[in-house]
Amino acid sequence: MGIHHELNIKDHLECFRNDEFKQMIKNKREKYEDWVGEDKVKEIAEWTKSWEYRELNFKREAISINPAKACQPLGALLCALGFEKTLPFSHGSQGCVAYFRTHMARHFKEPVPMVSTSMTEDAAVFGGQNNMHEGLQNAIALYRPKMIAVNTTCMAEVIGDDLNSFIANAKEKGLIPEDFPIPFAHTPSFVGSHITGYDNQMVAILRYMTEYFEKYGVDNVDKYDPEEGEFYKEGGLLSWLEVNSKGGQTT
Ligand code: SF4
Repeated sequence: MGIHHELNIKDHLECFRNDEFKQMIKNKREKYEDWVGEDKVKEIAEWTKSWEYRELNFKREAISINPAKACQPLGALLCALGFEKTLPFSHGSQGCVAYFRTHMARHFKEPVPMVSTSMTEDAAVFGGQNNMHEGLQNAIALYRPKMIAVNTTCMAEVIGDDLNSFIANAKEKGLIPEDFPIPFAHTPSFVGSHITGYDNQMVAILRYMTEYFEKYGVDNVDKYDPEEGEFYKEGGLLSWLEVNSKGGQTT
């Protein structure tokens, strides 16, 4: 005969009605919060239904909409999305990107693409170059963008990863095509806000593409057109990656 454990799983509403929970909240309020008391709460609740409260609201002359300060890569993501067939690519930890994508999906009510190099402890110690190289290959193979706009999260910035040399090394090793456009911006979130991040990514893209067009001509990016271009047709980029990539995964 086995040991029988009865599961007693309650959802949050049931828990909130539980006497033990109610007592816990009461203690917390009395001991650690500057609790005003039930009577005061009821009094204020009634006041919010009063004429006086209504008039005070109508007298408002300034209002803060969305005052929350978000971090730099969020702004960089938004900026990158403004460029046609551009994939925002965040070098850093995965959780940050989950947050950006959720935030944007809630706002725009549709899925928003952004990929991460998913740095973990080993990358924090040895640097995130391998993550970036694999990430770039996978992103090109799976999403087929015309351009990848790279930004950084706090983690990559704290350890000082150098985007310029990581991307240059990827091209030098033949992991990605030499003329594939990859503008990049350092967007440390411990300074500035999403607005700074937007600006940094915009400046980075404009600077990078100015030099890119001077070097390769304005038509070169069309080579990577996911729908029309030769580059992505069968036997194009995917086989190029298989032939040319040594260490990275292409699926
Ligand atoms: S503040 Fe830094 S760690 Fe937090 S979500 Fe933004 S980039 Fe990630």
